[in-house]
Amino acid sequence: MPDEPVVVRRSRRRRRTVTAYREGGQVVVAIPARFTAGEERRWVKIMLERLALQDQRRRPSDQALLARAQELSDRYLSGRAAPTSVRWVGNQQNRWGSCTPEDGSIRISGRLRGVPEWVLDYVLLHELAHLVEPGHGAEFWQLLDAYPKTERARGWLDGFAAGRELPQLAEGGGTVDG
Ligand SMILES: [Zn+2]
Repeated sequence: MPDEPVVVRRSRRRRRTVTAYREGGQVVVAIPARFTAGEERRWVKIMLERLALQDQRRRPSDQALLARAQELSDRYLSGRAAPTSVRWVGNQQNRWGSCTPEDGSIRISGRLRGVPEWVLDYVLLHELAHLVEPGHGAEFWQLLDAYPKTERARGWLDGFAAGRELPQLAEGGGTVDG
């Protein structure tokens, strides 16, 4: 379950949809005004379970990060990068990720916990590519060309750094027809 306080918001305009999203340190569950107390309880429970699942997918453990990095290397880099460990770190404010080609270790900034999966995949791939090509030359970017969302993810991260993009945990899977 999410750690934040949960607020239920009833809306007269809402007819059938239930939505859960994060706002100002709270989880807001928006429901139609006509819901009974029983429907409210049932839907709040369903939506919190969904958010928790989504959180799990978006905040993988170090072990899950390593498995994902290995998959990404196989899929987009023909397995050329061989990561040995991937972990979240808290002391990395200015970089999204870093790596040590000598031992194959990768570190990912904890600020990226909760970002969309395709953005985290890009950051993982970026570090994986550095295990093969240390610099940011043409060969490096050629490696990343294989990932179709490279440009989009770079734009997203620029926006995130500037505070324009906030992790939106409710998009897609968070909305259900009631
Ligand atoms: Zn780089």
